[in-house]
Amino acid sequence: MIRINDIIDKITEYNPDADLDLIDRAYIFSAKVHDGQVRLSGEPYLSHPLEVASILADMKLDMVSVAAGLLHDVIEDTHATAEEIGDMFGPEVRHIVSGVTKLSTLPFSSAEAREAESIRKMLLAMADDIRVVLIKLADRMHNMRTLQYHTSAAKQRKIAQETLDIYAPIAARLGIYWIKNELENISFKYTLPAEYADIESQVAKGKEEREKYIQTVKALIEHKMAENNLPCEVLGRYKNYYSIHQKMTSQNLAFEEIYDVIAFRIILDTIPQCYEALGLVHALWRPIAKKFKDYIGMPKPNMYQSLHTTVIGPFGERMEIQIRTREMDQVAKSGIAAHWSYKEGKTADPKTAETFAWVQNIVENQASIKDPNEFLENVRIDLFPDDIYVFTPKGQIKSLPKGATPVDFAYAIHSEVGDQCVGAKVNGRMVPLKYQLQTGESVAIITQKGHQPSKDWLSFAKTVKARSKIRQWIKTQEKERSLALGREMCEKAFRKVRLSFSTLVKTPEMDKVVESFGLKTVDDLIIAIGYGKITPLQLVRKMMPKTEVDEEQQSLLNRLMGRVRKKKSGSGVVVKGADDILVRFGKCCQPVPGDAIVGYITRGFGVTVHRAGCVNAVKTNPERLIEVEWDAATRESFPVKIKVGAMDRLGLLADLAACMSKGSANILSVNTNTDESKMVTCQFTLEVANTDQLSQLLASLKKIKNVLEVERVG
Ligand code: MN
Repeated sequence: MIRINDIIDKITEYNPDADLDLIDRAYIFSAKVHDGQVRLSGEPYLSHPLEVASILADMKLDMVSVAAGLLHDVIEDTHATAEEIGDMFGPEVRHIVSGVTKLSTLPFSSAEAREAESIRKMLLAMADDIRVVLIKLADRMHNMRTLQYHTSAAKQRKIAQETLDIYAPIAARLGIYWIKNELENISFKYTLPAEYADIESQVAKGKEEREKYIQTVKALIEHKMAENNLPCEVLGRYKNYYSIHQKMTSQNLAFEEIYDVIAFRIILDTIPQCYEALGLVHALWRPIAKKFKDYIGMPKPNMYQSLHTTVIGPFGERMEIQIRTREMDQVAKSGIAAHWSYKEGKTADPKTAETFAWVQNIVENQASIKDPNEFLENVRIDLFPDDIYVFTPKGQIKSLPKGATPVDFAYAIHSEVGDQCVGAKVNGRMVPLKYQLQTGESVAIITQKGHQPSKDWLSFAKTVKARSKIRQWIKTQEKERSLALGREMCEKAFRKVRLSFSTLVKTPEMDKVVESFGLKTVDDLIIAIGYGKITPLQLVRKMMPKTEVDEEQQSLLNRLMGRVRKKKSGSGVVVKGADDILVRFGKCCQPVPGDAIVGYITRGFGVTVHRAGCVNAVKTNPERLIEVEWDAATRESFPVKIKVGAMDRLGLLADLAACMSKGSANILSVNTNTDESKMVTCQFTLEVANTDQLSQLLASLKKIKNVLEVERVG
């Protein structure tokens, strides 16, 4: 447990003349009134105000703040009163402790109303005395650090989510990035434990190599700076897991594709040195255009200053480098707190006042807003500057990440609106679904009942909600299809050997078979068959022990095996979302590679592929439609019918045949018919590799003497 002396050591380091008596008295009082109370961790309760005070000392805050940190829970959790605090520690400490106490009591029941109310209270407190919010952030920080002691996982998740929704954005807005990062990281661990563990193990995997990489790059930079007499400090650090996760989800990248898991920072003494260092870095490695940002010349609203550049590093990799002065680095760590340091007194410098202008602004405006949701949306505009804000036709505000599209907007309104969206109007004008929305635009979504999401949407949808809903839809869809398809395939296969699948499926033997395939349920097995991972014949054989198979069944089985194998080998078509599914081609239209095709799940057996315009395909139930495409790697030949009309002459058929063999088309059958006027009509069935070969062939057939017309049939 941290001791009061540790905190006093920290304080004297940044403020040798500090009023330590105030700290001592606050400590003694806090210890007395919290005596006997324990934290969930089993530690004495006093450990909590001590840790909070220590975090405040890390922020180099004034003595009133540190004392208030030590006392922040006494009004709420002990018999101590605000009057007592005022009498003992003065009106300032009393004011702050009361402010913190007010922030922790929230009577609202609905999550949204609570969130709105917490933020509203935080902002009011901020406008009143920023130190109240700084203490609240330190308080939340220690509570997050000890979140593992909460016994309920649901409670942990709820607190973590609230931290992500309210506290981390406020820390960011105040420019206190170390608190924002730590809050996000711990919250991430509880809200998405699997994703967190994944990134953690990925980072651990390449740790040794990355450490070497950091050392190499550091040495290169240090050498270059020394050559030019620039004293500097070079740091290489891992980005926080949560920002890696956000990058992975927002840009749909795998961990390996995130180039800036490590970022470098060069810290110098003066601003001219920063620009000089930037020049040297760009001389060392080629900068990536548009990736350079000058926050020294143009500071962020929260006063953050730094030069950011991305270069092609020594190993051809992208590398992010931040360059700043020591003072700027301090501001980046402490944000607003850097300007509210131990220099006693309430009036901060004009820069700080400017930063508070936005808080004042919101507070003044909020009085007129009654609806908590509306208030929340307004505040978010200030808290989340990377979001865009658009309007529904009724004038409601929706916030979305930058780059969001009408699809994201539709899902933000309701999952059903998202699923059924077919078009969008922005400010009354039709736009494509992948249009990137801008702040201030009014968006109307056009829906169509029964319409379904498209896989293509994933290439532009930005929000987690839209992306996960689309993915979920595709998954369920594929599962349902595979289940129906698998069941039909099984019924047919079992019927062939005179067994009933629907009866056998309920027997204990089936459960054993399911287990033998390493699956959990019969449905899983049927889905696996539908996907083509397991053939129905594999299942039939498992369900028919050899002794019980009579001769007829065996021969049926053999024939069936032969047929299935033949059909399965390289069909030439890929069924989207399903590997190795059984495929056959419509005899009616005989598609060949290059034709636009569609797949239909056929009652009884696999997927039948038709040309997109084929009448037989069009009249099929649309629910059985499945996306298919040609396998680019196929070397198969495909049958196709053509018709040649010509005036008969000696040697015509021989010339046609020669032309076809020259065009490498195998003739499977010929049928000729000559009428009285010597008009001959020939029907050929040929084998071709694709539509290119076919159209070349048709063109050269047309050039043969006496040939009047040539066309593909079907
Ligand atoms: Mn507390």
